[in-house]
Amino acid sequence: MKDTIVIGSGFAGLAAACYLAKEGKKVLVLEKNESVGGRASFFQAKGFSFDMGPSWYWMPDVFENFFSDFGKKPSDFYTLERLDPGYKVFYGKGDEFEVPASTKELGLLFEELEPGAAVQLEKFLKDAKYKYDRGINDLINKPSLSLMEFANPLLLKDLFALDLLSSIEGLVGRYFKHPKIRKLLEFPSYFLGATPNKIPALYSLMNFADLQLGTWYPIGGMHEIIKAMHRVALDLGVEFHTDTAVEKINIDNGVVTSLDTNQGVFKSKSVVAAADYNFVEQNLIPASYRQYDAAYWDKQILAPSSLIFYLGFNKNIKNLRHHNLFFDKDFKAFGEDIYEQPKWPEEPLFYACVPSKTDQSVSPDGCENVFLLMPVSPDIEGSDDIHTHYLNLMLDRISDFTGEEIKAENIVFKRSFAHQEFKDRYHAFKGNAYGLANTLKQTAIFKPKMMNPKINNLVYAGQLTVPGPGVPPSLISGKLAAELAIKHCKI
Ligand SMILES: Cc1cc2nc3c(=O)[nH]c(=O)nc-3n(C[C@H](O)[C@H](O)[C@H](O)COP(=O)(O)OP(=O)(O)OC[C@H]3O[C@@H](n4cnc5c(N)ncnc54)[C@H](O)[C@@H]3O)c2cc1C
Repeated sequence: MKDTIVIGSGFAGLAAACYLAKEGKKVLVLEKNESVGGRASFFQAKGFSFDMGPSWYWMPDVFENFFSDFGKKPSDFYTLERLDPGYKVFYGKGDEFEVPASTKELGLLFEELEPGAAVQLEKFLKDAKYKYDRGINDLINKPSLSLMEFANPLLLKDLFALDLLSSIEGLVGRYFKHPKIRKLLEFPSYFLGATPNKIPALYSLMNFADLQLGTWYPIGGMHEIIKAMHRVALDLGVEFHTDTAVEKINIDNGVVTSLDTNQGVFKSKSVVAAADYNFVEQNLIPASYRQYDAAYWDKQILAPSSLIFYLGFNKNIKNLRHHNLFFDKDFKAFGEDIYEQPKWPEEPLFYACVPSKTDQSVSPDGCENVFLLMPVSPDIEGSDDIHTHYLNLMLDRISDFTGEEIKAENIVFKRSFAHQEFKDRYHAFKGNAYGLANTLKQTAIFKPKMMNPKINNLVYAGQLTVPGPGVPPSLISGKLAAELAIKHCKI
């Protein structure tokens, strides 16, 4: 009998397993896919190595803290490189902006666009740093089971300084007027799953993470972090069963007694459900034990899904950097198509990640590894024809802006991934990519709760619960889940 079974081996599941095992608990991780990593999966084809999900390594302190909890450092497992420039933004043909690693240099570039913007940037980042420090130290590390967790005088005093009630759009507008600067500073909102007018200004902490802490890359790819966490877990004695899908959680008198899987029945004293929360609640748990019903889930505002292409090119694509944002279309109209009137966008913004610009190990010599991602509304119908239309549209814009001719025969490997693949591979609710949008009404105590009062020995973790989507928050969610399991589940 294990102390805990963890369902799912994404960042949340791996972190939960490591922290539980560190406390001497016997832990088994059950993962439905062929390998660990969840949305940070990885595959190889025709000499190319593709990260399937996250590509931005932000908040290096969160990873340092994680590994140091196990007496390790990230450098024990992978080599990090700080990207300089961090990324490139295409505002139009011949109209590009590279974001330097140095904020001083960035200030000078801002100054060319808007007199006084360098000083404004300093002030903006000072405020963003304050939010980052408070957010990471005080807010993100709380399981948010009750409002009382936030009843500390310093935090209450801070509510105004943390800008919970104004939007990131309003905040950026208070500091800067130039549309290019505003687009640049509003961009992290799109990671947070809503338009900048709906994301609390608290999240300018992401600008601090972006511009001050920097954009990093683990040589080999983002999957190196997963490999490192998996190693830590194995060294602590955690057992893993891949290709093992949990099909039912059996509950008797408010206590989980066993899990039915495609590989047989497993028993443990407690369970950390680190698979998509909605799937676990609506499909694995008997109806009488569910905390939320289908109507509740339908009302939740989801972050976008993504149309992704993993492409292998037989030549280099000049004028691209490692991270490239194509912001040459109207943000507002695009936001409408994704969030307000969900449909396939008329004029999409998109992102191109080219890790082979930094790391030749991810593609054969002279070739380019390209990951294209176009945010799309969750839960809309797609088809091969629609996907191909957008691939051609993205390639045409890349070709136009970089001056690099791209012919069909240059693409030697192609794989697409969208709503149906998110559902099939990750049991993703409505095919979401990044969980719930981080709007105020879906923050902290307003998120689906990590514990269900009807079930004594089950804790939820992952991007659909506290603290939210993204690699660092999911990892922290796993840590919080381990703490709750130890405190509440009698293991
Ligand atoms: C395309 C994309 C790009 C992203 N880019 C970034 C980025 O650049 N930076 C960043 O910080 N974040 C990024 N994110 C977000 C980040 O990757 C996620 O928030 C995070 O990885 C979620 O981790 P998780 O552990 O909560 O969930 P998951 O990684 O989804 O893990 C859940 C696991 O549960 C498994 N599972 C599901 N059902 C069952 C079952 N019945 N039985 C057993 N196992 C099951 C799944 O197979 C999966 O492995 C991106 C996400 C996507 C999809």
